[in-house]
Amino acid sequence: ASRLEGVEQAPPDPILGVSEAFKADTSDLKLNLGVGAYRTEELKPYVLNVVKKAERKMIDAGENKEYLPIDGLASFNKATVNLLLGFDHAAVKEGCVATVQSLSGTGSLRVGAQFIQKCIPGKTVYLSNPTWGNHRGIFSSAGVKWEYYRYFDPETVGLDFEGLMEDIKNAPDASIIVLHGCAHNPTGVDPTKEQWKQIADLCVDKNHLPFFDVAYQGFASGSLDEDAYAPRYFVDRGIEIMVAQSYSKNLGLYGERVGALNFILSSSSAAKKVLSQLKQIARAIYSNPPVHGARIVSEVVGNDDMFGEWKQEMEYMAGRIKGVRQELQDHLERINPDKDWSFITKQIGMFSFTGLTPQQVENMTNKHHIYMTKDGRISLAGLSSSKAEYLAKAIDDSVR
Ligand code: PLP
Repeated sequence: ASRLEGVEQAPPDPILGVSEAFKADTSDLKLNLGVGAYRTEELKPYVLNVVKKAERKMIDAGENKEYLPIDGLASFNKATVNLLLGFDHAAVKEGCVATVQSLSGTGSLRVGAQFIQKCIPGKTVYLSNPTWGNHRGIFSSAGVKWEYYRYFDPETVGLDFEGLMEDIKNAPDASIIVLHGCAHNPTGVDPTKEQWKQIADLCVDKNHLPFFDVAYQGFASGSLDEDAYAPRYFVDRGIEIMVAQSYSKNLGLYGERVGALNFILSSSSAAKKVLSQLKQIARAIYSNPPVHGARIVSEVVGNDDMFGEWKQEMEYMAGRIKGVRQELQDHLERINPDKDWSFITKQIGMFSFTGLTPQQVENMTNKHHIYMTKDGRISLAGLSSSKAEYLAKAIDDSVR
């Protein structure tokens, strides 16, 4: 027997486990709405044309495979901050931004969590309830305490703004508040601009440190600027923030693991010290980040034609998702007119939080071969026009 026979079996991941179950299903009807990855109308993975163009250019230029510096590709780091804050922001010119390229959104959050544990220990991180399933694991793995703040109100299928404000107010001063930059996962419910203002006011009063998770910039509304409204607003208010960025969705670079962790601070000396710590943390975990995807981002953003083409493709992807949202809602309103389905088009981004109970989700999967997470979340990016009616009928059957 192995010396490791006593190791406890870990449960499958609640999100990626859904894809494993989907793969094992042999039915022609099967539909995977579990994982948040964009699919074409034919339900095939999609490589953006602009990405292929950038890759061809890179091959022609004979790019090598040498190691990057610990903090990543300099031209990528410049591009990623420009996308986040808008081009040539004063904070960058003044040296108040510390940026490391990291392993997509997840790795950037993890380095951020490790920084909190090491450099500002004893702080509690506040997560929205509910939140993306990996947030808890990321902070727990780094040895950081976390708690929930109220976020979603099932009654209104909208934001529990009063609960959110009360919980952030009751958090100890100088806590870390994780905020989804846009297209909240899993609910698809975001604060309004007026509500962001009130959240910012409260963060100032309480001296909280907001940690923005920006996984969907440009992918939610189709506009890079609109989707960056919240973090930019906080920076303009003079609030110091942390931001994790991901290029998985907006540039379709899922498996390339491209992202960044940024600190936007009020002094250049603090930014310098923070950067030195981030490098030390990254060095011990993965030494330096992958080069290929970072070059793609840097090529695309650095070339006016390709940058324009990217924006068009982003708008197209966001538009396709909004389109199937509408179709799903239309079918449900026709099939089951007694219920209010308007939440489907009110929510934004890739997901819809359907309100289906775990038993109803089981019915969706066992009877209709529709795979989704147990919390009732569906990824609309995995839905096509031609399958919208099938999905609507299955939802109707499950809620009756
Ligand atoms: N944060 C949120 C809210 C997400 O939804 C995701 C992806 O689903 C991520 C971060 C990180 O994804 P990745 O590590 O692929 O960039």
